[in-house]
Amino acid sequence: MKATPHTVFTPELLRRLDTSGPRYTSYPTADRFHERFGELQYRQTLAARAELARHRAAPPLALYLHIPFCESVCYYCACNKVITKHHDRATEYLDMLGREIEMHAQALGTRQRVTQLHFGGGTPTFLSDAELSRVWAAMARAFELVPDAECSIEVDPRTATPERLAHLAALGFNRLSFGVQDFDPEVQQAVHRVQPAEQVQALMAAARAIGKFDSINVDLIYGLPRQTPERFARTIERVVALAPDRIALYGYAHLPERFKPQRRIDVAELPDGAGRLAMLGHAIEAFGAGGYDYIGMDHFAKRHDPLAVAKREGKLHRNFQGYTTQPECDLLGLGVSAIGRVGATHAQNAKTLDAYYAAIRDGRFATVRGLALDADDLLRRAIVMGLMCRGRLDFAAIRAEFGVDVPAHFGAELQRLGAMAEDGLVRVDADGVDVTEAGWYVVRAVAMVFDRYLRQPPSRGDDGAQPVRFSRVL
Ligand code: SF4
Repeated sequence: MKATPHTVFTPELLRRLDTSGPRYTSYPTADRFHERFGELQYRQTLAARAELARHRAAPPLALYLHIPFCESVCYYCACNKVITKHHDRATEYLDMLGREIEMHAQALGTRQRVTQLHFGGGTPTFLSDAELSRVWAAMARAFELVPDAECSIEVDPRTATPERLAHLAALGFNRLSFGVQDFDPEVQQAVHRVQPAEQVQALMAAARAIGKFDSINVDLIYGLPRQTPERFARTIERVVALAPDRIALYGYAHLPERFKPQRRIDVAELPDGAGRLAMLGHAIEAFGAGGYDYIGMDHFAKRHDPLAVAKREGKLHRNFQGYTTQPECDLLGLGVSAIGRVGATHAQNAKTLDAYYAAIRDGRFATVRGLALDADDLLRRAIVMGLMCRGRLDFAAIRAEFGVDVPAHFGAELQRLGAMAEDGLVRVDADGVDVTEAGWYVVRAVAMVFDRYLRQPPSRGDDGAQPVRFSRVL
């Protein structure tokens, strides 16, 4: 039987692992960004990259385009979005997004190579076919999309039709991600996101028939109101029958003080810790039996999928969208609230439409916060990402790249890992640290040992209102 959290973890160990932590789509995490990194610093960063590009020394680009609009609110939502039924609101947004794309092309040099493109939201499929074409054309004018670029888009099944999918394929999208969450009608009602399973099945069939999508992903969430292990098992069965190439299974994090829509969720309807663990454990078993490999941190992929191959070959990477096969790129975050990473900096755009529009109208980048990584951040980022992506901290590799002797420099951290080694989550020897099969389920808890910021007082996030809390590790 495949090792899963509820078969390999004792109740005592589960209690100790019942903690919260970052998802490490970046290190340092976004809650550590600050306003001292603003528009000026972002311009300087882009200028430095342009200089590298002149000497053909700049890495390729990845683009993230944020489309914030949704027609109705899902109660579990923790995204930056604007709820509206007025589709004409997209017009002004696309004007500004087009300008922001042009400003980047001017700052970086036109026709920079793009190897990865992702439309996220919000709901990218809130846009009409003509509007999607418009954004695509603006992007294609400014950048050179390489022929084998990964071009993905999040699809809300409630706003998509087979014709819509054909249009996405014609534009050049080759990856789709369907937001499913749960097929159970009761759960769908409890979270205010009703979408019949048949609708998703029909869309998946249409996407396959089009034949242009290399990879189809399905997003699921466990820990939602009215979910039970039995009900969720039926959803899992249906998802395995649909056979998407990838599955993302997120644990719902109930943080109503940070995310207003979650205040509409009845806490009494949320499954307890044992229920959550049973759902996760069953899902891992069923996906394993259905031909999926566990990639780490909520992600599963069919054994033939490039993500599973990359995991086996130790070539996984991680960015703001999660795991990827693409090596380090500079990532431009475009649109309201979008986060980018260029060189050794992170930058985030204004979170409200008004502030975003005002900056772009003025000809300024909309950066409001960010971070320039120092030497310690870069060292720890390499360690955190090595653990998250390859399940390994290689002492010799760190010495070669940073000139740092890990056992001497990280004595306290290695001591803390000793307890995890006793619990069978990691193996530590003279050459390095390896995450075990059981440890992969809590890999972020292993990475957290090296996160310097977790030993500082919690940040208060970008609105300064509440100390930032993270989602649960399991
Ligand atoms: S979960 Fe997605 S579709 Fe639902 S409100 Fe949030 S961003 Fe919009």
